[in-house]
Amino acid sequence: MSTLHIEDLHVTVEDKEILKGVNLTINKGETHAIMGPNGSGKSTLAYAVAGHPAYEITGGSIRIDDEDLTDAGPDDRALAGLFLAMQYPVEIPGVSTLNFLRTAMNTLNDEPIGVREFMDKVKVEMENLKMNPEFLERNVNEGFSGGEKKRFEILQMALVKPTFAILDETDSGLDVDALRVVSEGINAQRGPDLGVMLITHYTRILQYITPDNVHVMSAGRIVKSGSADLAAQLEAEGFEQFA
Ligand code: ADP
Ligand code: MG
Repeated sequence: MSTLHIEDLHVTVEDKEILKGVNLTINKGETHAIMGPNGSGKSTLAYAVAGHPAYEITGGSIRIDDEDLTDAGPDDRALAGLFLAMQYPVEIPGVSTLNFLRTAMNTLNDEPIGVREFMDKVKVEMENLKMNPEFLERNVNEGFSGGEKKRFEILQMALVKPTFAILDETDSGLDVDALRVVSEGINAQRGPDLGVMLITHYTRILQYITPDNVHVMSAGRIVKSGSADLAAQLEAEGFEQFA
């Protein structure tokens, strides 16, 4: 059993305090939805946990079990089992998705993966996500549609097999079909070996992925936590009550 502990996390971006004491505990095997209005600090939480340098942790801690990751660099966090699928994935000109995926896997595994084994794995996962094999020749996120970017994030996750995945607005910019494929891709990876922090502004993706816990963020704090029913309540009543 592994647990991600976020305790009293304070985060400053460009000298402005955005997170004002976030407490969140996610056990491996659980899926927690983080909801809340635009600007409430959801992406800031995702970046801070993943170790983005622009997000300065000024108080509190991030741990996986006994391993303190509060001051760790992004690479060490990835090695510890954290994975971030960004709300706005960045383009990497000149780097093919194929090379990117192999490098990611080799960085996180003790031994480099053989070409054939790698290709077999990639093909299976790409078929599951209904991705065209030509995709592997394209540069990372360059000219990708919204749906392609999100599928690529889920493909990375399927190959890297993190212990804790942070999925930031994985539903944004997806039409109904793409949302279903991406959600099925996430559901296929859920299980006792994966903890998920599923960040979303809308309840739409929660029709496909039933979380174990739902948390509402407002103005840099988690202001309410509950079971999956809380999402339905938010759908009906909106976030205003927490503003
Ligand atoms: P959410 O994901 O919930 O919509 P964000 O975490 O993106 O919220 O943003 C929370 C607040 O932090 C907003 O006021 C936003 O303008 C600010 N913020 C986030 N990232 C940056 C950044 N890189 N530079 C400046 N301000 C930022
Ligand atoms: Mg966001």
